Amino acid sequence: MSFYESYDARFGQYVMFNAPLKRLATGFDWVEGPVWMGDAGCLLFSDIPNNKILRWTPEVGLSTYRAPSNYSNGHTRDRVGRLVSCEHGTRRVTRTEWDGSITLIADSYQGKRLNSPNDVVVKSDGSIWFSDPHYGIGTDYEGFKSEQELPCHVYRVDPDGTIEAVLTDFNCPNGLCFSPDESLLYVADTGRMFHSDPAHIRVFDMASGRPSGGRVFHAISPGVADGFRADSDGNIWSSAGDGVHCIAPDGTLLGKILVPEIVSNLCFGGRAKHQLYITATTSLYMLALNRRGVQQP
Ligand code: MG
Repeated sequence: MSFYESYDARFGQYVMFNAPLKRLATGFDWVEGPVWMGDAGCLLFSDIPNNKILRWTPEVGLSTYRAPSNYSNGHTRDRVGRLVSCEHGTRRVTRTEWDGSITLIADSYQGKRLNSPNDVVVKSDGSIWFSDPHYGIGTDYEGFKSEQELPCHVYRVDPDGTIEAVLTDFNCPNGLCFSPDESLLYVADTGRMFHSDPAHIRVFDMASGRPSGGRVFHAISPGVADGFRADSDGNIWSSAGDGVHCIAPDGTLLGKILVPEIVSNLCFGGRAKHQLYITATTSLYMLALNRRGVQQP
């Protein structure tokens, strides 16, 4: 298929040349934050400017999950399956309980308001890790233009509610995920503005339980690593300006899935976690891969 570009012989084992890149839904303004809800058999994702969380199921197609969404961006599930969401409009991270009520996870640090939580993952010990760049308060497009009170950090919230700024040397931290065995933490820096430096993913060693190191793992080009997830072999599938890039654990670009719109984020889903769901500007896409993704829970 013409939408693949291979840069390394290893790429061939991960893609299937008879699988279509399907546009499942379109007409949005800027979609992000996909998360697969296996028990409900649906994908949830944010249309940030339209202040909605949307739901897509193979049987029904598209419906609205939550509106208004407080200009939500990234989502994930915690280890017991609850939805965890980043909200620009309220400058907070929340958890949706099984009864539908909303629990505050974090909205401030050392007495100052967070900027606009962007992307979130949950570690197997129940700690919640999220990035807090300023994109959601810079304009009224994806939230409310307002004053920045804190630098752009990555935070960890422990199950007891303790919040700590764990990565403080980023310009604009954005996408993040753990390696399959959680020995590594990958975090993107998407720079002061889109399409400016830096546009790379850094990797941190988690052996001590805290992130250390932080060398540049891979420089994304074109575009930025707005969001990414790992597959079961530890490859990182990342958003980029021309589609999705597959990056090996050694940092080598193995290949690309060319998508006709700028990709913001992605997740694995479907019955075997082998479907890659891709949010890209105005549309939601899906592509079957020959590898399973690592996705909580
Ligand atoms: Mg992002």
